[in-house]
Amino acid sequence: MSVSLSLNGVRITYEGGRESHTAIDNFSLLLPAGRIGCLLGPSGCGKTTVLRAIAGFEPVRSGAILLGDVLLSSPTVHVPPEQRRVGMMFQEYALFPHLNAAQNVGFGLRRLPREERAAKVAEMLALVGLQEAGARFPHELSGGQQQRVALARALAPAPALLLLDEPFSNLDSSTRERLTAEVRDILKAAGQTAMLVTHNESEARAMADHVGVVHGGRLARWSEQAGTTAPQ
Ligand code: ADP
Ligand code: MG
Repeated sequence: MSVSLSLNGVRITYEGGRESHTAIDNFSLLLPAGRIGCLLGPSGCGKTTVLRAIAGFEPVRSGAILLGDVLLSSPTVHVPPEQRRVGMMFQEYALFPHLNAAQNVGFGLRRLPREERAAKVAEMLALVGLQEAGARFPHELSGGQQQRVALARALAPAPALLLLDEPFSNLDSSTRERLTAEVRDILKAAGQTAMLVTHNESEARAMADHVGVVHGGRLARWSEQAGTTAPQ
């Protein structure tokens, strides 16, 4: 089941020798359950840092990160990444080249009994429109198909929240446009709460219900897009 995400006054710093660099400061937002949020901003503004903190790979110096009413991060609390129910689709998390599409999707389901796992993999491949492609290896798939397999892999363990870090940036612009719409439809059909980050404004507008603009580690605006409606 999807849940809301909230960040309350989050600060994240990187230590480098005697220097400490504040990458994110006074960062607050609320993303309601089932909605798609987007953080929009130029390279280096802190987008990946925020996602890494939500996923549990960076500690917070002040403030709090909550999933539903569960406190994930604060200066005194840090739930480990594998216990957060947070899924990730990051550009750099490419598919495993030696595993076929079905094996990639099943990767996070290794603890399920074989038949249950096979059924879930088939369901996920169908969700992203690749039910016929399970036996194909990544190099036999187009860039757009690879990203859809990566999405199926991220959704398979049923995360409460999905994070997407510039997931379409390596694709040509027509594939990117098509995939943006497809991914939005898939996430909406699944009722998935998701947070996307990108430097591409049209991608942000096409994909998200809520868009925030990030500047120098701060959230300048966090607003609901016109034309989107709250879930029932
Ligand atoms: P974006 O994803 O928006 O491009 P990042 O979150 O990657 O931005 O980086 C935000 C800032 O934090 C940048 O100034 C970057 O140089 C710095 N930074 C990112 N990762 C590290 C790290 N591991 N150590 C030190 N500084 C970092
Ligand atoms: Mg980044």
